[in-house]
Amino acid sequence: VKFYLGAPHAHWLASVNVPLFISNRTLIPRRKLPRAIAPWALDSGGYTELSLYGEWTISINQYVAALRRYRDDIGQLQFAAAQDYVCTPRALKRSGRTVADHVRLTVDRYIRLREVAQDLPIAPVLQGVTADDFLRGVDGYTAAGVDLRLEPIVLVGSIAARGDDPQVARLLVRLRGLGLRLHTLGVKHEPLARFERLLESSDSMAWSREARGRPPLPGCESAHVHCTTCPRYALLWRARLLDRLAWPSLFGADGSGVATRPR
Ligand SMILES: [Zn+2]
Repeated sequence: VKFYLGAPHAHWLASVNVPLFISNRTLIPRRKLPRAIAPWALDSGGYTELSLYGEWTISINQYVAALRRYRDDIGQLQFAAAQDYVCTPRALKRSGRTVADHVRLTVDRYIRLREVAQDLPIAPVLQGVTADDFLRGVDGYTAAGVDLRLEPIVLVGSIAARGDDPQVARLLVRLRGLGLRLHTLGVKHEPLARFERLLESSDSMAWSREARGRPPLPGCESAHVHCTTCPRYALLWRARLLDRLAWPSLFGADGSGVATRPR
């Protein structure tokens, strides 16, 4: 599994030499962009956008223009998430729409993005709460003429907060079984280790939440009270994660690709 480290600041692209995952919300206000020293991918910022406004305030044309700048000026952009409609309780409350609406709007917006930007590596997103919601999304793409099996990466949203929920594992097994190359948006340490075999890639900023509850690393005391935006902390967390992902014995005695709980 390829892991993109969630990064809070745009300047990490020029200084942190591992694959990064950065939100459009961080990049879009910047006039001058950093030059990437490693591959990276873009989060649309849809989680925050929908939680705050219940709808996109960044138009399709604005998003596409921003993506072209990132591709050309920053370089090494692996993929950019489509503008999706996350299905968290907060986003649904804010938009006043149903899960089925968000699933449909996510598909529709990807189709419109693709129409105006075939030159960009925009990745389709699947959204939902139940497995049926996500599968309806797959059907929606198919009906619109998009074969997700041909996409280099398909993003799976709205599962970050669900931790070890066995329904998430079953969903990923089903999507993988359809032949999709999956990227889970923002999964925590432990679930990522369990799902590894089902995924092409993933990203996480869980290190920042972890750092919030801890004293600073030795040597960081004079710089900050907590290492919530600290590349040193993030890289140590990433090293621990990758160590864990390297254990083949964690996976799939039953062939499902889903590990029993690691010890
Ligand atoms: Zn620190």
